[in-house]
Amino acid sequence: MSVQVSKYQVSQKGYYGKFGGAYIPEMLYPNVEELRENYLQIINEPSFQAQFRSLLKDYVGRPTPLYFASRLSEKYGAKIYLKREDLCHTGAHKVNNTIGQILLARALGKKKIIAETGAGQHGVATATVCALMGMDCVVYMGEIDMARQKPNVERMKILGAQVIPATSGSKTLKDATNEAMRHWINNPADTHYIIGSVVGPHPYPDMVARFQSVISEEIKAQLLESEQKTDPDFIFACVGGGSNAAGAYYHYLDKENVKLIAVEASGLGNESGKSAATTALGKEGVLHGSRTLLMQTPDGQVIEPYSISAGLDYPGIGPFHANLFDSGRAQFVGITDEEAMNAGLTLSRLEGIIPAVESAHAFAALEKVDLGKDKIVVVNLSGRGDKDLETYIKWGKY
Ligand SMILES: *Cc1c(COP(=O)(O)O)cnc(C)c1O
Repeated sequence: MSVQVSKYQVSQKGYYGKFGGAYIPEMLYPNVEELRENYLQIINEPSFQAQFRSLLKDYVGRPTPLYFASRLSEKYGAKIYLKREDLCHTGAHKVNNTIGQILLARALGKKKIIAETGAGQHGVATATVCALMGMDCVVYMGEIDMARQKPNVERMKILGAQVIPATSGSKTLKDATNEAMRHWINNPADTHYIIGSVVGPHPYPDMVARFQSVISEEIKAQLLESEQKTDPDFIFACVGGGSNAAGAYYHYLDKENVKLIAVEASGLGNESGKSAATTALGKEGVLHGSRTLLMQTPDGQVIEPYSISAGLDYPGIGPFHANLFDSGRAQFVGITDEEAMNAGLTLSRLEGIIPAVESAHAFAALEKVDLGKDKIVVVNLSGRGDKDLETYIKWGKY
């Protein structure tokens, strides 16, 4: 059992402040309980850590660079560093987590992997590690999302995964999640469910945050080398469910001198009815098995979110971030589609890096925060823009 070391970390009972917990159907209890009882012991074992570290190094390509962006720095009068998660194998940070979870699944003796995916990025990262480990992979995806994200569906199939359409409800992410949960209830003994962000019932948010925490572990060492100190003044990261941000913040949570800027997608504007900015529009409730902030109607129905970026198009945030918001530890900023696309094009022209549209939201927030002079700023560049080429082309203006 871990001892709670920080008010921003999960408690022994699985809570971040008043958020978190495990609100799950009775039938899922044995699966989640098996994970809860074993995850810390397994992931802290030296043999587990050795395998995890070795794969992060040679398969994912870690450590990812911390790149000093001189032209962007000049524009903002700050020292801006980019944490290059876009250079990870498969193009984003998500693989850090899927590598960790598949090793955990193997240690628990599981033979099969299930996952759900919205945009397909987490599905691809899961299919990738299943191929790597020779494990069966089933990915649930909303029928509408499958049509919208055809290339990722094909990627998963090339990698050997079975992609099953969720055909109920809105035929999107939440319906895929329901299908995956149902599958898990029916196959508890041999199957592990890989969740893709710091969401879901305890212990998932903590487990995913630990796997992603390699991001801030590396930032500390890299800043020490380039700036002779471990702490930046600001860390910017976009928040869908919140896993890349959790990883970038993790080792700085108790260093209140490091300002944490969490960037949500405001879509066409928070008053437009087309937004995914949970902290601006959400209320407390239960989503995907945890108590957190989510966008909901007065009678508790989940509101369909909207963002131009598929990875931020989620109606809640994980309990880790709900607590950072509630406690004031992180500052939350909303960025519209237009602001994000402009920032993506600016980064492309200034630094020769086309970011994922999710990550572009984090860059747009540089405009919204008073950085002061010569401050050290880290922006977590969560993914590369290759997958978003179609979105950039449709947007035009370049
Ligand atoms: C999935 C994704 C996100 C959003 O997920 P988080 O769990 O909030 O990190 C952000 N950026 C990229 C590139 C993604 O693929």
